[in-house]
Amino acid sequence: MELLKDKTAVITGGTRGIGLAVARVFLQNGAKTAILGSRKETAEQALEQLRREMPGCQAQGYWPDLTCREQVRQTMEQVAERWGGVDILVNNAGISQRTPLYEYQPGEFEKIMALNVNAVFLCAQAAAEIMRRQGGGVILNASSMVSLYGQPAGVGYPASKFAVNGLTRSLARELGRDNIRVNAVAPGVIATDMVAALPQDMTERLAASIPLKRMGQPEDIANAFLFLASDLASYISGAVLSVDGAAMV
Ligand code: NAD
Repeated sequence: MELLKDKTAVITGGTRGIGLAVARVFLQNGAKTAILGSRKETAEQALEQLRREMPGCQAQGYWPDLTCREQVRQTMEQVAERWGGVDILVNNAGISQRTPLYEYQPGEFEKIMALNVNAVFLCAQAAAEIMRRQGGGVILNASSMVSLYGQPAGVGYPASKFAVNGLTRSLARELGRDNIRVNAVAPGVIATDMVAALPQDMTERLAASIPLKRMGQPEDIANAFLFLASDLASYISGAVLSVDGAAMV
């Protein structure tokens, strides 16, 4: 069954990791899918890979600066013009940091907030305008387990994900009248480049401490996004869905 047949989706940071897995599962489920990367080269590489795996799939790449209101709006309108609308937005692009408080450099905190929070706001705003015009849609955000527990260094990252949860719950309340559902997925420890950047002994300790005794795979998160994007979740809005193997790390 194609859960997203005739839908159009936009995925930020769709070039690798969780975002690429979301793009793959959305395409497999019939969605026309726009991948927003940070650079032309990486967006084109991801597209090439997806087209090789799924010849004839309807995927397109864009590389706007997600922190620039005008570029974000232009991209959303381009997607809507090409495919007749934007039904699903996945705000997945994000960066993390583990800098101790006393070592933060000027601008480092602001940089993480710019992508993890401001860009989520800008993309949601631009997509919601199109969704309202067309009579509804779904906005999904990548949160994190750290939005529940915080983390002992790199305070910018959990602060940004607490903000993502706030945006999620508040936008769900504001946009329900426009038939727009808004939800977030809070991944635990997922095997992507973001986690590969951590010291190996730390990731081993993390995996061992998870009740399901393994790190998550990008597909575990992509399937949660698929469910929330689909009509199976038509009465779910304002939720932050933990997908973390019951971890509390
Ligand atoms: P990743 O580092 O593998 O990929 C991040 C994606 O964001 C890439 O596609 C990258 O191109 C994009 N990106 C980075 N900077 C960008 C910018 N300035 N403009 C546009 N795109 C940019 O990360 P991931 O692990 O796949 O994480 C995806 C999301 O899931 C993030 O929001 C992250 O915070 C969240 N998350 C990940 C984990 C995990 O364990 N991997 C856990 C919790 C939450």
